[in-house]
Formats: sequence, structure tokens, C-alpha cells
Amino acid sequence: MNKITNRAVSVLLIAALIIVGLTVYVLRYIDHGKSWAMSFSRANAGVTGTVTDRDGLVLAAFDETRNAYAENALDREACYHVTGDYWGRSGTGILSAYWDDMQSFSLLTGTTHAESAELKLTVDTGLCRTAYAALLGQNGMGAAMLMNYRTGEVLCMVSAPSVDPLDSETEPPEGAYINRCLSSVFTPGSVFKLVTAAAAIETVPNMDSRQFYCENLYTIAGVDIKCTGPHYTQTFEQALANSCNIAFAQIAVKVGQTNMIEHVRAYGFLDRHELSGLRSAAGNYPLDFVGDPELAWSGIGQSTDLVNPYAMLRFVAAIANHGVLVEPHLLMSETPAAGETRLMQADTADRLAAMMNYNVVSHYEPEDNFPGLPLCAKTGTAELGDGTSHAWFVGFLNDEAHPYAFVVLVERGGSGLRVAGPVANRLLQEAMKR
Ligand SMILES: [Zn+2]
Repeated sequence: MNKITNRAVSVLLIAALIIVGLTVYVLRYIDHGKSWAMSFSRANAGVTGTVTDRDGLVLAAFDETRNAYAENALDREACYHVTGDYWGRSGTGILSAYWDDMQSFSLLTGTTHAESAELKLTVDTGLCRTAYAALLGQNGMGAAMLMNYRTGEVLCMVSAPSVDPLDSETEPPEGAYINRCLSSVFTPGSVFKLVTAAAAIETVPNMDSRQFYCENLYTIAGVDIKCTGPHYTQTFEQALANSCNIAFAQIAVKVGQTNMIEHVRAYGFLDRHELSGLRSAAGNYPLDFVGDPELAWSGIGQSTDLVNPYAMLRFVAAIANHGVLVEPHLLMSETPAAGETRLMQADTADRLAAMMNYNVVSHYEPEDNFPGLPLCAKTGTAELGDGTSHAWFVGFLNDEAHPYAFVVLVERGGSGLRVAGPVANRLLQEAMKR
């Protein structure tokens, strides 16, 4: 009798376990079934889809039998970090990020034939090609982005070196799969003076009536700060145009580390951002107490400062748009704007915009370097301590017909104005034709 009872209990237990297991499976299937079925392998998908640029040019197209990309090899390389590939080798591609969304999935039958999925991007292939060719014309390593600061549409996101996803013969250059726009951080050098200037406008009274003196060398607590000057007596505006290290060392100390951290954070430099489902890397700024000499260097964009190019694009786009960032996006379907964030006061942004225009007019020889461009910008030549420098050029066009903000970085390229400047000029001249 006892034996029978024991057996009955065992059977009931097993039955209960099966029911619990099945319930867990069904619940998880409902929750995750789609991603299990897709799991970024389209062997069983049987769906068709296309990814196009803003003008309908096909950047990727797929069905049961083929994985296609843009016809032109230069377009494929220039747009590779936007599209990604069908294998997910680039961490930031639209194909990876939206693969699941482009499929339809039935809980009863597994994957089903979807209606042809179409994803229209905001990028302009011609602008991407121009920026990519210009980067290749320098040392072939860097990042270039351009966005409409009124609508948030990203028209250009290019990282070099890049990959032709159809070329299975050639080994891509080292680091080619990394999207330098989103996934990398770099020492900013003097482009960071825009950040320090913004923090100063928002925390230090009467910045415009202050004067700064540079005789090439300045000592803070026994530590030398060197400048490319002498710049002698300068106003705030002149100090930015001269990119005077000594003035900005003094300004950073005046702002103070607590205020600097607060503003660097508020401008979004320490966060990871999301660009239409693609995540960016967080930057760095000294958060532990460092003392005045290191604080001075951090205000000049050296010290342990690291900036993500996309975070810099958001910042200059907000300056261009009276302090309000229209959240950038890569999908046409996200228009109208994915949201707005005020990064700084309108007065601060407008003051900075005027100073950035003064930079160009007074120091960047615009007739030769940027002919015809209504340009507000800042250069950066970020020393890396090994004799090389990152070349930066960031800013925007002050033009209602062409409201474009941009960031150009040439990794270990040298002078901001001489190396990153021409890349920006080619990109902007092309954008002015749009
Ligand atoms: Zn100076």
C-alpha cells in the first residue's frame, strides 16, 4: 500500500514539474520567441526588406536568396557604419539594430513571410561619400558627422577606415569595424574650450568685461601651463579665437571643478546616448578632486578628458539651435523630432555662436579655407603626449536654408585647422548644394 502511495506521489510530482516547465517555456516563448527565431540569422526568415538613404538609394536589400548592399563600392564603404552588415560584425549598424523589427513573427507558426520591410534613413549617401573620401585624403583614420540642428536628422555618419561588406577577399584595416563616431572617445584638446566657455558664461559674472593676459607661460601652484602665444591682453572672445591655454586655464579655475563637472555632465559628455537604437560611448572628465593645475588642464581639453564625437555633435547642435538640442535620429519615420532637450540657456548658446563666428572671421582665413560658408566653428589640436595630435574641427552653419551642425575628427592627424578643416570644408560645401 505504502509503495503505491509513494509511486502516486512521484508521478504527481513529475507531472507538476512538467506543467511548471511548460508554463515557464510558454511564457518565455511569448516574451522572447521572436528574438529566438531571428537570433540574427536569417536562414529561416524568408522575408524581404530594403534599407535606403533619404533619397531612396538602396543601401541594403535582402530576401531569401540574397544579401545585397549599395551598388557602388565607395557608397558601401562610406555608409558601412550606418548600415552595418548581415552578420553583426559592426556593433552599430542599422541592420543589426532593426533586424527583428523588420521581420513579422507569428507565435503559432514561428516566422512568417513579412510584407516587404522598408527602412528609410535620414543619411545622404552623397554627403557620406564626400566625407569618407575627404578622410581618406588625410590619413584615413577618423570620424565625420553632420546633422540638421532644426530637425535632428543625421545626414552624415562616417568612420574611417571602413569595410566593404561585399569584399570577402581583402582583410579590412585594423579597427575598421569600429564606428569612431559612436563607439570611440578621444582627447578633445581645444574644442573643449567651447565647453569651458559655456560653463564660464553660465557661472562667472561679467565674462565679457574680463581680460586675460598671456606671455606664453603661466604657473599655477608650481605647475607650468604653456601656450602657443604670447597673446598678451585679450578679451574672453579674443581668448577663444586665440585658443589661449593660459586664459582658459584661468577661466577653468575661476569656474571651479564642481561647476565644471556639473556643466560637462549637463551638456551630455559623460553619458551614453542612443542614436536610433545605436548606443554611443561615454566620455570622461576628472570627477575626483584634482587641484588647480589639473583643473586648468582639464579646462583646456587635456588632463584625462575624453570626448565621444557624437556627444560633441549634440553639443554644437544645441549651440546652433539657441541651446535646445533636437534629439538626433537616423530613421525618417522618427520625424518629427524624437524629442528636445535644453542643454544650456539661450543667451549662453547665442553668445557662444557669436564667438565661434568670430573665431572663423578673425583667425581661420575663411576666404581661402571656407569660401562662402556662413560658418561658426572651433579648431582643436589635441596633444597625445607622444608627439602626435588629434585634429578636430567642430561647429555649424548659421544659415536657415542649411542648418547643419558638424564634427570632424582626424585621429592623430595633426593640426585641427590644417587637417580637419579641409575635411569639414569639403563636407559643408557639398551640404550647401542641398
Ligand atoms: Zn596664450
